[in-house]
Amino acid sequence: AALAAIEAREPAIGAFLEVTPELAYAAAERLDARRAAGESLPPLAGVPLAIKDNMNLVGTHTTCASKMLESYVSPYTATCVDRMLAAGCIPVGKTNMDEFAFGSSTESSAFHPTKNPWDTDRVPGGSSGGSAAAVAAGETPLALGSDTGGSIRQPAALCGVIGMKPSYGAVSRYGVTAFGSSLDQVGPFGRTVLDVALAMDALMAGGADPLDGTSRAFEASFTAGLNEGVAGKRVGIVPALMEAQGLADEVREAVQAAAGALRDAGAELVEIELPHLDAAIAAYYVIGPAEAFSNLARFDGIRYGYQEPGCSSLGEQSARSRAHGFGEEVKRRQLLGAYLLSSGVYDRYYFAAQKARTLITEDYAAAFAQVDAILMPAAPRTAFRFGELSDPTQMYLSDLFTISLNIAGNAGMSVPVGLGKDTKLPVAVQLQGAAFTDAKLLRFARVVE
Ligand code: GLN
Repeated sequence: AALAAIEAREPAIGAFLEVTPELAYAAAERLDARRAAGESLPPLAGVPLAIKDNMNLVGTHTTCASKMLESYVSPYTATCVDRMLAAGCIPVGKTNMDEFAFGSSTESSAFHPTKNPWDTDRVPGGSSGGSAAAVAAGETPLALGSDTGGSIRQPAALCGVIGMKPSYGAVSRYGVTAFGSSLDQVGPFGRTVLDVALAMDALMAGGADPLDGTSRAFEASFTAGLNEGVAGKRVGIVPALMEAQGLADEVREAVQAAAGALRDAGAELVEIELPHLDAAIAAYYVIGPAEAFSNLARFDGIRYGYQEPGCSSLGEQSARSRAHGFGEEVKRRQLLGAYLLSSGVYDRYYFAAQKARTLITEDYAAAFAQVDAILMPAAPRTAFRFGELSDPTQMYLSDLFTISLNIAGNAGMSVPVGLGKDTKLPVAVQLQGAAFTDAKLLRFARVVE
């Protein structure tokens, strides 16, 4: 059914870079054989799964939507993908994204744009736009994305699906192409909070991954207690964020309505402050590009992917392969990172960004001493038109509400709450929780969805 839906809807949506019917049928046949042998099947047996194209699945291309990796075939499978498959998921394909996950619209894919299923003149958000669109279009019930500064939560918001960015270290990064290693987290997209909880259980099964030094074991079950409610819990609202410039009225009203729903369910609303959040975007656009510059140095035209023909020296081959293999935004980030890490400049910006990171992390710690979860917008506005945000700094502001969470390593998710009264497009709210309170966060989402 998923493959048929993909065939029917892909011409209009373009969520996938590669569809994998052979792998899907092989996985389904293996499950059938186990059932025929009288084995009990794993919890997600037969559930179709789409995988962002920065995650390795052996035998498929992992292009990161870049010409640099157009011909690259995964030699192994990422831990996150492996665990979903171990839980019984059927891999239906690899999804489109902003090139190397830099962006908020999926427009920077080297191959084709992905359309928002609600209005195909509009972007699905990004960088995990293909995964969000695939779920929103009913092509697959579950998808994996990655979120370095909002790339799961923002496209989920723009496509009207649930998207979860787990705490940093919850999901293994092994086999996922690195962008900002201290910020990157993998997480699921789904249509309901329960689906996302089931995916989280699958991703956490097996505990810490020895192949990722920052991965930690996660004891909680995501499905048990999901319907426990929020009576007596405290939910933080940040008044300053509700007045943020660029926040659409219809989004502000949706957050207020969600706050009302949480209060009606017995939660107490508490006004809190996150005083250093206004430094989050600036700090992110230092730390992110600095880490990206280091991580993308491996694409040297020799070890992976695109290799410029006809070069007479190694240096020329590397320079020309990078010049022609990378798109504009990927070059911009690397130039920025190279500059920021250069001597003399490093002290001024990188140290300052790290100090801001500490202050933001401390702000959150103080807030989570008072409240169990924080409610705020996920994206400042609903889906925008292709080409509408042509200025990169304007695009960077799409992550106004999502970036600080990655800086602090906390858990967050975006939950759709219907269509906006003005644009009639999906509107979402965001719930944030302290690191490793992810399972509890889902209970708040369950009340709001
Ligand atoms: N939009 C942000 C950026 O361009 C975040 C991307 C992400 O989370 N991968 O860096």
